Amino acid sequence: MKILIAEDDATTRKLLRKTVEKWGHEVVEAQDGAEALAMLVQSGAKFMIVDWNMPGVDGIELCRRVRCLDEMGYVYIVLVTINDSKEDVILALESGADDHVSKPFDRKELRARVRAGERILELERALRAENDGLKSKNEQLEELVSIDPLMDIGNRRGLFKAIEKAHHRYSRYGEEYGVVMCDIDHFKTYNDSYGHLAGDRALRAVADAMKGILRVSDEIFRFGGEELVLLTPKQEPKGVTFFAERLRNAVEQVGIAHEKSARGVLTVSCGATVTSGTDVSSKWEDVLQRADRALYLAKASGRNAVRYRGNEAGAGGVPPTDPAAARGKAPAASM
Ligand code: GH3
Ligand code: MG
Ligand code: MG
Ligand code: MG
Repeated sequence: MKILIAEDDATTRKLLRKTVEKWGHEVVEAQDGAEALAMLVQSGAKFMIVDWNMPGVDGIELCRRVRCLDEMGYVYIVLVTINDSKEDVILALESGADDHVSKPFDRKELRARVRAGERILELERALRAENDGLKSKNEQLEELVSIDPLMDIGNRRGLFKAIEKAHHRYSRYGEEYGVVMCDIDHFKTYNDSYGHLAGDRALRAVADAMKGILRVSDEIFRFGGEELVLLTPKQEPKGVTFFAERLRNAVEQVGIAHEKSARGVLTVSCGATVTSGTDVSSKWEDVLQRADRALYLAKASGRNAVRYRGNEAGAGGVPPTDPAAARGKAPAASM
């Protein structure tokens, strides 16, 4: 193991070095506390043998400072000193030293204490590794429970987490976000005609079609059943309507045959909204509900359509954009 020896007396330092090297350890030397601190960080040593009386930063102060470095992992410190009254030992331990050895030191005693420290560091290392492993497993688990395996996109839980964050950014920093809620049209009859497995494949194809037109900052989630919700940052009412229109069109363009649908292919209806005005002081649930109402209007208009609903109570409560006009004009590059 690498051991950092902090000792101002050259003779004692040399003796300590020789002794410790004989036990098979690698040694880094420092002549005072300040140098020891710098060398500790630089060398990454986890074990220190420290003298108490040194010019500038002494051994006690060095112990205190090492305990304030939290990026280092645990550093084991043995104080080797002539200050060996009961009070001295107490002060040393309270300052952060792990052990205390009287000077002139007894080799056998020092060796036993170095071994004891080594065992503790080994335990600490093992615990840390186990902890890191658990942490990364937890992260994987956290990700898995937020994903819908059929559509391979975020699930309802993932949506709630993301929209809560987005809403916080809006309330706190005024960063608007748009929500589009989509529902596949006549999907029950699709299942009835083609079977549930084909239905599953169609669900995946719809999600893939939407994913294909997203920007990295857009997020897509399965809200449940054949419903999807998309979050998009910083969208004007017009922008979010165009975005929804592109989603609707992307699904229609896949051309999944659906004999019972008016178009002959599988389509979606979309409800869009964007945050504004009083949304600052209300909840994300209200924003989501507005997208849901807009979706209802899209269904009522005959399906395979987009409707926008703004926050009428807010400053930005813009009346619904005409989706038919948007469909005609939507410039792909503006999304
Ligand atoms: P509308 O145009 O009004 O939305 O009609 P719809 O038939 O799509 O709506 P409805 O709510 O009556 O039916 C939704 C269907 O979606 C019924 C359900 O079986 C189907 N569905 C939901 N989840 C899944 C799934 O994971 N796989 C398959 N294959 N079908 C699903
Ligand atoms: Mg000294
Ligand atoms: Mg539905
Ligand atoms: Mg439906």
